[in-house]
Amino acid sequence: MEKITLKGGEFLIKDEHFASVFIPEEFSEEQKMFSDMASDFLKTKVWPNIVKIDKHDDPNLMVRLIEEAGELGLLGAGLPEEYGGMGIDFNTETILAEHLGPSHSFGVAVAAHTGIGTLPILYFGTEQQKNKYLPGLASGKIKAAYCLTEPDSGSDALAAKTRADLTDDGKHYVINGQKMWITNAGFANLLTVFAKINGEHFTAFLIETDTPGITLGEEEEKLGIKGSSTRQIFFENVKIPIENLLGESGKGHKIAFNVLNIGRYKLCAMVMGGSKEATTIAVKYANERKQFGVPISSFGAIKHKIGEMAVRVFAAESSTYRTSSLINDKINELVSGGTNKIAAKLQAAEEFSIECAILKVLGSEVLDYVVDEAVQIFGGTGYSEEYPVARFYRDSRINRIFEGTNEINRMLTVGMMLKRALKGQLDLMGPALSIQKDLMSIPDFGEAPEGYLAIEKKSLGQAKKAILMVAGAAVQKFMMDFEKEQEIMMNLADMLIDLYAAESTILRVEKLHNLKPESSKLFENIAKCFLSDALERINLNGKHAVTAFAEGDELRMMLLGLKRFTKYEPINTTAVRRDVANYIIEAGGYNL
Ligand SMILES: Cc1cc2nc3c(=O)[nH]c(=O)nc-3n(C[C@H](O)[C@H](O)[C@H](O)COP(=O)(O)OP(=O)(O)OC[C@H]3O[C@@H](n4cnc5c(N)ncnc54)[C@H](O)[C@@H]3O)c2cc1C
Repeated sequence: MEKITLKGGEFLIKDEHFASVFIPEEFSEEQKMFSDMASDFLKTKVWPNIVKIDKHDDPNLMVRLIEEAGELGLLGAGLPEEYGGMGIDFNTETILAEHLGPSHSFGVAVAAHTGIGTLPILYFGTEQQKNKYLPGLASGKIKAAYCLTEPDSGSDALAAKTRADLTDDGKHYVINGQKMWITNAGFANLLTVFAKINGEHFTAFLIETDTPGITLGEEEEKLGIKGSSTRQIFFENVKIPIENLLGESGKGHKIAFNVLNIGRYKLCAMVMGGSKEATTIAVKYANERKQFGVPISSFGAIKHKIGEMAVRVFAAESSTYRTSSLINDKINELVSGGTNKIAAKLQAAEEFSIECAILKVLGSEVLDYVVDEAVQIFGGTGYSEEYPVARFYRDSRINRIFEGTNEINRMLTVGMMLKRALKGQLDLMGPALSIQKDLMSIPDFGEAPEGYLAIEKKSLGQAKKAILMVAGAAVQKFMMDFEKEQEIMMNLADMLIDLYAAESTILRVEKLHNLKPESSKLFENIAKCFLSDALERINLNGKHAVTAFAEGDELRMMLLGLKRFTKYEPINTTAVRRDVANYIIEAGGYNL
């Protein structure tokens, strides 16, 4: 089978072959073992304690559970064996993240520890720093937190005021400042802290929490993830040896931004696991709850909800595993070219940083949609703390805020595409110009393409033209000021997100059809249903964008272009959602 390796962002101008993508239906026995291990741990250790964790009844409970996860190898699974990890590949890391996902505050604590807490050391630490800290982080003996945000610098992280000043003897840095919203602050032993040397050079430091001069604020009273520890941290003349500088002086932004790429990606894998679990809980309830003498799952209105929840989760899952394989393959390619495995992972995540930002927005918004509908399916009981969906609803919301807000990630998605185009790394200009010719030409009313999902693949190609047309025209109009046009950037980001999700779904279904042709009709319909709605949204976002900057003939031509490029045979999406819902209702939970 043909395998095409795409570069980051190239999905907009090239077509990936289904053979290149990894799909959940291909998990190996070893990968299933990891997912079972994570699920068993959640079911037996975490879920029975979820209320206690949220109430902080037992202050050491979270710490004990993190340590138990460490003993099982769940914390260090992705770390190299020489540092106490298991060295699993990236696809297996994705599976693990998905299966650890539906664990509310526990998942947030683990994600902060294993992601933003551990990865700065893995990627940027000296050999001495790695040997000193990574084995303890893998086992859970050391608990980590990441201190970037401050009261006056959140999205604008580089505006941090925390300072680091070198002592006269040149042997220590003295840290002064304040960090805010720090996950795991209440029990972490090790902090990655961003501070400016001489108030100027943004740099990362490793600080052990027993160093004199560190104090904590009270636990924040939060809307959700109430069991995770979130506190302010104050640094007053905290003296640390110069060996604790992490990476290079003045290059803290490299650490902050690179670590966030993986963080965003993993967040999507986790929230996708949460979305599946919330769907299952809603379906079980809908099967049990009777009104008007029948289970509420027999009502079309409820089936519509379950069907749409499942379609969106399937699309988020397909997009996650597609990206997983892109990163996994890039790591392998770099390693076989001589790059060491740690550097390869960092480079691969950077290469696919556009896709990571897309996934962060997609996954967190699918989860919000799913938990909202889950509460609705529960009716009044959805509003009660006695049932699990209220917690899902509360805990979901944070995912659109941390790891870069969804607005920032949308702008990054478009901004990074354009930067790569300007640097000549991504040829957007050629395809964008050829679309202008396309627009002038007579539409091709030729024969419909033949082959499995061939019409859908043609539609994806057309949707790419729609996006390139809008982006090309907007860039021509605003030139260097384009990034100030945030509303248009948001429209374009949404168009890209829909394209990526629809294409990922179609690639997965095509692969599935090749693996198991007999089982693919339902999946084929899911892909068509998602695509049909995605094309409508792409058209609408395109309209919002072009009407904001074009007028007269130019506007009319682009609106016609949008209509043409997002045209798709009408399909009975109501029937598809109903079929999907029936399939899931019969199984008693999400089983796609
Ligand atoms: C529970 C929780 C846990 C957290 N854990 C950590 C942690 O462990 N470590 C850590 O360092 N931080 C952590 N954070 C902080 C989190 O990353 C920030 O809250 C987030 O980056 C947003 O920053 P902010 O809250 O200052 O919002 P702001 O940056 O003030 O943003 C407010 C609004 O303005 C929008 N906005 C901001 N800038 C722009 C712009 N240029 N263009 C358009 N819109 C813009 C945002 O999208 C948002 O909608 C946590 C936060 C919470 C709530």
